Amino acid sequence: MTVSCLPIAPSAPLPRRSRQARVAWGANVVTVGGDAPVRLQSMTNTDTVDAIGTAIQVKELALAGSELVRITVNTPEAAQQVPYIREQLDRMGIAVPLIGDFHYNGHRLLADHPACAQALSKYRINPGNVGKGDKHDRQFAQMIEAALRWDKPVRIGVNWGSLDQELLAQLMDDNAARATPWEARQVMYEALIRSATESARRAVELGMRPEQVLLSCKVSGVQDLVAVYRELARRCDYPLHLGLTEAGMGTKGTVASAVALGLLLQEGIGDTIRVSLTPQPGEPRTQEVVIAAEILQSLGMRSFVPSVTACPGCGRTTSTTFQELAKQIDDYLRAQMPVWRDKYPGVEKMKVAVMGCIVNGPGESKHADIGISLPGTGEAPAAPVFIDGQKALTLRGENIVSEFHALVESYVEQKFGGARA
Ligand code: SF4
Repeated sequence: MTVSCLPIAPSAPLPRRSRQARVAWGANVVTVGGDAPVRLQSMTNTDTVDAIGTAIQVKELALAGSELVRITVNTPEAAQQVPYIREQLDRMGIAVPLIGDFHYNGHRLLADHPACAQALSKYRINPGNVGKGDKHDRQFAQMIEAALRWDKPVRIGVNWGSLDQELLAQLMDDNAARATPWEARQVMYEALIRSATESARRAVELGMRPEQVLLSCKVSGVQDLVAVYRELARRCDYPLHLGLTEAGMGTKGTVASAVALGLLLQEGIGDTIRVSLTPQPGEPRTQEVVIAAEILQSLGMRSFVPSVTACPGCGRTTSTTFQELAKQIDDYLRAQMPVWRDKYPGVEKMKVAVMGCIVNGPGESKHADIGISLPGTGEAPAAPVFIDGQKALTLRGENIVSEFHALVESYVEQKFGGARA
């Protein structure tokens, strides 16, 4: 049998087809959708009434890479603090746009607190939480009027935990009249999408430009999210905010978010992402930004921090030196990024390899910008270091870890500091 041999095209995410929105604070204009990079979003978990605590957490999230930060605006007291949070951030030189998350009383808060409405860069409206019956349309319209008055974009953010129950009941009734009724889950998908797209249509009727409207339809199951967003993307070209809601904590939340977002982003669906991770005790809020950034970086869509390639280790490497070095280098590179981002442009694309033995160590290290192959069990106590694909030197003795650390620092300075470029 003859096997025809054709070049294999590298895999890449499909192009996106959304229109482009702008979310701005001062000179910091964050484009979302269209040909803009997929944006990182996060949300604070401080009490917004605590203006200083909230401003500090927003700053931490922004320095971790979050390009948009959402804060809850749930009471008059919280709304009063929003301009002060903005002021604190401006004083600290943090221009990240703030998004106000509104439920139930957003129409009143935006009308009663104009300084809050002005200080926010975008409003999140949940159509399931803007009121029932005849209040629904009126209060939704009041929020859109505020967005028009202050020239702010809105995200119409539907969530299956707070889905518009009247719409769902109506679709259930329609479904019961079908000759072949859909499954309840399919009706729920339809209600989520209909709630978002109908609300968007209403916002545009009220005067919003389509470029000022973003949508999301968050659910907490991976396959549900994929089904809903595929259909949502097929039906509209509004920029989509993507996230697996209530993803959970730790490994479960991380893996579920990565799988769900990865599947959709690869299909060209999603213009901003958030990982809704429940922090484990003691875990910083910035972890959700770290994971979201890793998702985009793993897909090859964006680069945020230098990546460390490390093998899993096996019976050929029984010392902990290799694990410790991989962790130290990873921690070090992440810690440097707030400073390096401006000082060493392009450093975020650097690849470092830390490998456990001779089997794949030299080969993988040659693929990296700088890599080290540590000696496995029974190997001679020597660690070849590869720089730009060439073996540069061999480290020996007790100080391999600190010496490799110094080599990485020196490489960054030379390659990205302008001296060698
Ligand atoms: S590179 Fe060596 S130590 Fe690492 S997993 Fe492969 S065989 Fe094991």
